[in-house]
Amino acid sequence: MPMISKILIANRGEIALRVLRACKELGIACVAVHSTADADAMHVRLADESVCIGPPSSRESYLNIHQIVAACEITGADAVHPGYGFLSENAKFADILEAHGITFIGPTADHIRIMGDKITAKTTALELGIPVVPGSDGEVKTEEDALKTAAEIGYPVLIKATAGGGGRGMKVAKSEADLIEAWSTARTEAAAAFGNDAVYMEKYLGKPRHIEIQVFGDGEGNAIHLGERDCSLQRRHQKVWEEANSPALNVEQRMKIGQVCADAMKKLKYRGAGTIEFLYENGEFYFIEMNTRLQVEHPITEAITGIDLVHEQIRVASGGGLSVTQDEVHFSGHAIECRINAEHPRTFVPSPGTITHFHAPGGLGVRIDSGAYQGYKIPPYYDSLIGKLIVHGRTRVECMMRLRRALDEFVVDGINTTLPLFQDLVSNQDIANGDYDIHWLEEYLANTPAA
Ligand code: ADP
Repeated sequence: MPMISKILIANRGEIALRVLRACKELGIACVAVHSTADADAMHVRLADESVCIGPPSSRESYLNIHQIVAACEITGADAVHPGYGFLSENAKFADILEAHGITFIGPTADHIRIMGDKITAKTTALELGIPVVPGSDGEVKTEEDALKTAAEIGYPVLIKATAGGGGRGMKVAKSEADLIEAWSTARTEAAAAFGNDAVYMEKYLGKPRHIEIQVFGDGEGNAIHLGERDCSLQRRHQKVWEEANSPALNVEQRMKIGQVCADAMKKLKYRGAGTIEFLYENGEFYFIEMNTRLQVEHPITEAITGIDLVHEQIRVASGGGLSVTQDEVHFSGHAIECRINAEHPRTFVPSPGTITHFHAPGGLGVRIDSGAYQGYKIPPYYDSLIGKLIVHGRTRVECMMRLRRALDEFVVDGINTTLPLFQDLVSNQDIANGDYDIHWLEEYLANTPAA
């Protein structure tokens, strides 16, 4: 594989900045791309070079493969880091880059394809020895199929879109009476959202936690795991607060599921960073999907392992292999990430506009990943994540104390943000006890008036 000398960052916002920082540390030149709406963005200001790739609409800019390849050619970039979202899990993009002799910093297009189709992903996981949620054997095509499969699995069941993502196209059927309607609604929604009406069925788990394992492979059959992240605190299937380690696992459980995942990645000859997502209930792990890219919440893993995941991605993509063996991975302390969105803290209505005052917290164990600054105008065209607050402490208790004071220091004026929600959560007794599942946050929001 080629040496990398110049990386084009095919993304925006905090993750573009995150990748840029790794490039600078490694002495690799970096190119920012941006839409006309992002001309003043921090990642554009700090990059060595920048190229405008189109108008505000993502489809015409950050998702525009031709423009991005052209930007590589104009600037002589020999590699692309896709960040998360946008083109990061687009197999065609990986193929096109390869055809142009440009290194895609990520897994092979084939691995992206396998994991991008949920039924294929599940079958593959099963073959690789990863525990999966009991469910249909592939697609559920007819009403008879649906009735028969649901009776075998046992109610409640969940109907999910094969091409699904972002929690869309999922429907629960509590009993046979709801089944056909849930099945046909899921198909209609899947067709509308993903242009593919294929659905499958799973046992619906009542009170699971969302626990995911960070894996890394060198593409040659070596792979490691970097422990888990607990991302159970979600709203509308979007993660809000993540922690590592999970308050629900002990060391033996962590190392056991981690090893299962690392072994699976060795068999697959997986290359680069990946996340294997599970639902966890009554001591059992159930695979739901694998993300073949860097995750938003990767910094909490960096905090507890001391390993820079973007350095590692670049190293693997240049053929340098992994910088550590499993024995050299040590977990230290506890980390929590809060996703700060430009949204009302209770109604979650987006709040684009100008940040009139911005003061980020600092001090030991506090990290801010954000492209925001005083005077920055948040454009209305993209997701509302404006920054991530990541806090690390020697114990979970220390981490929570540090998070509370970091939140107190954080000032973002001029727009609404979700900071007040985190102020509430950090003082909540269930959160303090680590006692929550994937429904906890929505129940809390429904039952607790804003302070
Ligand atoms: P997507 O790709 O749309 O995000 P996932 O398969 O990752 O879909 O599931 C998203 C979320 O839906 C999970 O984090 C969990 O909250 C819920 N979910 C998925 N499968 C199940 C299941 N079998 N039982 C209960 N909840 C589930």
